[in-house]
Amino acid sequence: MEFESVIGLEVHAQLLTETKAFCSCTTKFGSAPNSNTCPICLGMPGSLPVLNKRALEFTVLMAIACNCEINEISRFARKNYYYPDLPKNYQISQYELPVAEHGWVDVDTSTGFKRIGITRIHMEEDAGKLIHDDRKPVSYVDLNRTGVPLIEIVSEPDMRSPEDAAAYLKSLHSILVYLGICDGNMEEGSFRCDANVSIRPKGQTYLGTKTELKNMNSFKNVQKGLQHEIERHENTLLGGGNLIQETRLFDPASGTTISMRSKEQAHDYRYFPDPDLLPLRVDLELIERMRKSLPELACQKKERFVRDFGIPEYDAGVLTAERSLAEYFEKAVEIFPNPKSVSNWMMTEFMRFLKASGTAIVSAPVQPSDLAGLLSMMERGAISGKIGKVVFEEMWKTGKDSNQIVEERGLVQVSDVTEITDMIRKILLDNPGEVTRYLNGKTQLIAFFVGQTMKATRGRANPQIVNEILTDELEKLRN
Ligand code: ADP
Ligand code: ZN
Ligand code: MG
Repeated sequence: MEFESVIGLEVHAQLLTETKAFCSCTTKFGSAPNSNTCPICLGMPGSLPVLNKRALEFTVLMAIACNCEINEISRFARKNYYYPDLPKNYQISQYELPVAEHGWVDVDTSTGFKRIGITRIHMEEDAGKLIHDDRKPVSYVDLNRTGVPLIEIVSEPDMRSPEDAAAYLKSLHSILVYLGICDGNMEEGSFRCDANVSIRPKGQTYLGTKTELKNMNSFKNVQKGLQHEIERHENTLLGGGNLIQETRLFDPASGTTISMRSKEQAHDYRYFPDPDLLPLRVDLELIERMRKSLPELACQKKERFVRDFGIPEYDAGVLTAERSLAEYFEKAVEIFPNPKSVSNWMMTEFMRFLKASGTAIVSAPVQPSDLAGLLSMMERGAISGKIGKVVFEEMWKTGKDSNQIVEERGLVQVSDVTEITDMIRKILLDNPGEVTRYLNGKTQLIAFFVGQTMKATRGRANPQIVNEILTDELEKLRN
């Protein structure tokens, strides 16, 4: 029997507001534990929450970017559960009436564009953090994160493979980061995802029993976890077993999943409208204002890069995957208006050094104007492409600009014909055997002479000129 997998994702994104969702505590990361707290986010009796307007604006922005219908009236609800990182014993969330519903995003997959439905986008607040001490039998609680605004984006079960899921997740990530409403850091948990997966015989339309996977903090692990889970489902069903609806933890060390708890049902949470918060009204003025502030998103930028800069679609895809990379490209092209050459250098040297160093683009030691400077030196013929790579590496390591490096290390390309001719004549005199063999028809030896000349100039001779002069000089010796 052939199975098909069905996947739906629940994504939580921490919003980049300055203050928390319902109080004025700062959301700043890295403060002393429990210092960014107040009676509201600590859940003290008698305190009253007030919605952060910015958090709502960000939610609306995301809803527009995901083609959702925005509800004029939505409601905050209490999701009740007990855990030490949740001082109120309930999380303010939304239940029956979320801010936005019925949207979609078009996702670039290996088999073309695929439309993934967005069931809903709602607002909620984050919980605190428990810190477990490995050496002592104690745990600590830090409530700085308690009350930080989140949006949850719930997809329809529209994905059919782990690759689909990763592609969808990357699209959401790109949109959030482009909008500037989430920093997208998966390792630190400001962008996290629960993956729901089930399988069914191919051709069937019913939904199979699903499991929900947690604890995957990279795109790769989401894919790995789902792949493992799909295989586990298949093996269970083919072995005549039954699946139960449960929540499972992905274990990155083994690449497998472990049962965490049988899935709680919505009614376990005793959702009810939060009596401390008024129904949430989103008026048309706000929606229009957000619509107008919507920036160009990755897929539109990609199209424009192909159209206006004439770079290949693949390159445009890579360069627009991150907003900061796209901005880097555009800045460099503004100074050095040869998009193809900027793109080539970014796709190779720049990305290579960036990945190896793990530096953020904005703090890369080679900034757009530096790269543009290097490229124009090459274009002027001041240095060869080969030397260009050496200079780039030096720029990256030292932060110096290309002019300075070329000058200090004497790397200026030798294009002077007399200088090169003198050098070549000397090399031909020093290698009479090779000259004779060349003249007797072993013309491949030209490479040997080019090599000798480059060596003599420490790679600085203009290779084209070297080739021309060499051929000339060797021909002269024939007579
Ligand atoms: P729950 O009540 O368990 O949270 P929901 O119906 O709210 O379940 O769905 C949560 C997520 O799981 C959604 O993204 C949805 O698309 C996905 N989902 C629901 N049922 C299935 C299923 N049978 N297989 C895979 N994904 C599913
Ligand atoms: Zn507070
Ligand atoms: Mg649900």
